[in-house]
Amino acid sequence: MKISPGTVVLFDYTLRDDDKDIIDSSKGSEPLAYIQGEGQIVPGLEKEIEGRVAGDSFKISVPAEEGYGLHNPENISVVPLDQIDGGEELEEGMQLHTEGEFGEDTVIITKIEGNEVTIDGNHPLAGMTLHFEISVRDVRAATEEELEHGHVHGPDGHLH
Ligand code: ZN
Repeated sequence: MKISPGTVVLFDYTLRDDDKDIIDSSKGSEPLAYIQGEGQIVPGLEKEIEGRVAGDSFKISVPAEEGYGLHNPENISVVPLDQIDGGEELEEGMQLHTEGEFGEDTVIITKIEGNEVTIDGNHPLAGMTLHFEISVRDVRAATEEELEHGHVHGPDGHLH
């Protein structure tokens, strides 16, 4: 079966940056499972994986525009430390979860200087070219229930 919208795809991946350093990999854990055509993986990869079948392996470099987006300076803000709950616990590099307009956002604390905390709401991989190595493990039709829920269910039935 070819990968097309409405199929459940399981794949192994390794993701590297421009220096060939590994950012993320499914090696040693379960393959990633998603529903094709639902925007659950980055657009550049979703486009390139379309039409492939189980057993296919390929490499692809996805530009930031089709990955996690460009780094937007408007997503960086400076807030006073004493206005953040538990502010004294904060450290540079820490991730915080905030309630945003569209649900939960993850922001990263990039700098703490005196009472000024710099917060970056860009995706940690924004602005990066994503170098993927992909191996397609399995392709099957999504069940009606999976399509309704918008996520993949495990082999033993409904897990969500
Ligand atoms: Zn479900």
